[in-house]
Amino acid sequence: MAEAARIDGKAFADGLRGRVATHAAAFAQATGRAPGLAVVLVGDDAASQVYVGAKGKACAEAGLASFEHRLPADTSKAELLALVEQLNRDPQVDGILVQLPLPAGLDEQAVIAAIDPDKDVDGFHVINAGRLAVGQAGFVPCTPLGCLMLLQDRLGDLSGLDAVVIGRSNIVGKPMAQLLTDANATVTLAHSRTKNLPEVVRRADIVVAAVGRPEMVRGDWIKPGATVIDVGINRLPPTDDKPKGRLVGDVAYSEAVSVAGAITPVPGGVGPMTIAVLLRNTLVAAHIHAGLDVPEGL
Ligand code: NDP
Repeated sequence: MAEAARIDGKAFADGLRGRVATHAAAFAQATGRAPGLAVVLVGDDAASQVYVGAKGKACAEAGLASFEHRLPADTSKAELLALVEQLNRDPQVDGILVQLPLPAGLDEQAVIAAIDPDKDVDGFHVINAGRLAVGQAGFVPCTPLGCLMLLQDRLGDLSGLDAVVIGRSNIVGKPMAQLLTDANATVTLAHSRTKNLPEVVRRADIVVAAVGRPEMVRGDWIKPGATVIDVGINRLPPTDDKPKGRLVGDVAYSEAVSVAGAITPVPGGVGPMTIAVLLRNTLVAAHIHAGLDVPEGL
């Protein structure tokens, strides 16, 4: 059997970022200001610092204004909520992102609940989760929305396809299952208590793996020709030739690539989509706040 097509998330994300940049320039022309994203980082978690830096750089490249707020690890809940309130009121700020995880002692749910749902470009607020659940327009978490875009780009109409999502987190698995349901796929949401997971996965035309376990999904779990979206980002222990440790997904790529019809690599698959969709959501928020029509084709 021929090797699976490689779904190039980086190229798709670059295209999306380019479209965002074009529309951001038109928005700035029409309104006299750039769409604005506020990113709040509390503490000095190394991975979070990298993510926040990458988001700021991506905003600048797409012509979005980014407002970074770096707060010390001992910031109180009251101080953090006061900042969120200030950003909620700031007309230059269209999107607010509080980088997770927060330092121990700060209640993440309380902080997310304080964000204006119409500036919640991460889609984590319960109002936006509820909007997605009942099919109303709202902000959808960036990673699963990016996965849906890759699937629709690859497969077109998803109607009637069997989809298995592995992992039921609020930020990936659950919204992914809802998006696929809305796209008329027949969806199974699998998790750690699912019985006979390999058999369940073998029925799927579409597999989305969002587990956080390196290479858990084996090649012989995949139905021949299926489309496989690997959300997992796992760093293996360092070796002599990879002193930082190799990055792998939740799918055993080297096995699955000879069975699947198409598959996302790790890195270079889903990962680049997350920030691109964050920019897209911020652009959408800006249009709504300015009373302008949301551009089509994003
Ligand atoms: P969580 O840890 O929140 O959720 C993991 C899910 O996997 C849970 O629902 C859990 O089930 C399920 N699970 C765990 N073990 C098994 C198993 N043996 N069999 C079946 N299901 C299992 O993870 P996230 O959703 O936050 O992230 C998942 C992965 O995606 C991680 O590798 C993460 O790094 C990556 N990620 C990548 C992003 C990107 O930008 N590309 C963004 C976000 C995440 P249960 O509920 O029963 O415990």
